[in-house]
Amino acid sequence: MTTKTRRPITPAATATSWQSSAACRTADPELFFPVGKGPEAEHRTAQAKQVCATCPVQDDCRTWALETGQTAGIWGGTTEADRWDAGMLQTLRAERRSVERARPAFDRCLAAQDFIEERYAAGVSLRRIGRELGVGYDAVRRALRFFEEQAAAEQAAAAGMETAA
Ligand code: SF4
Repeated sequence: MTTKTRRPITPAATATSWQSSAACRTADPELFFPVGKGPEAEHRTAQAKQVCATCPVQDDCRTWALETGQTAGIWGGTTEADRWDAGMLQTLRAERRSVERARPAFDRCLAAQDFIEERYAAGVSLRRIGRELGVGYDAVRRALRFFEEQAAAEQAAAAGMETAA
């Protein structure tokens, strides 16, 4: 007896914001979950990829599959093997490790926002500010950019409120 790994729903039926635009909304879910490696599975894989090729949310779907670690099925026009062969999974894992390593330094910068902004306004280099905080240059640079984006968003929100008043 063959044990089938089946996805009961198409990617379009997953609880994500892009699902309503998915090209596989009305497709046969079996296509996206071919079983085995024979000609029939290859045929189904090809058919599913054809549907994906017309899909306006292909990138969102593939990213979602990578981020949620979908180990089977066709997502965003890729099989698990495609995702692995193309180095997508390895890249994502490396990025995650990199983000995890960088997070404590970034958090330290967030907690020192006033200090960083004052030192930066005084003309102190990012490298030196980093040394003073015990973090790397990159963490200070990213934090400053974050502060600037935050300030811009607050200004835009305030301007919107004034216009509405
Ligand atoms: S890319 Fe393919 S699997 Fe993903 S939502 Fe579109 S049609 Fe469905």
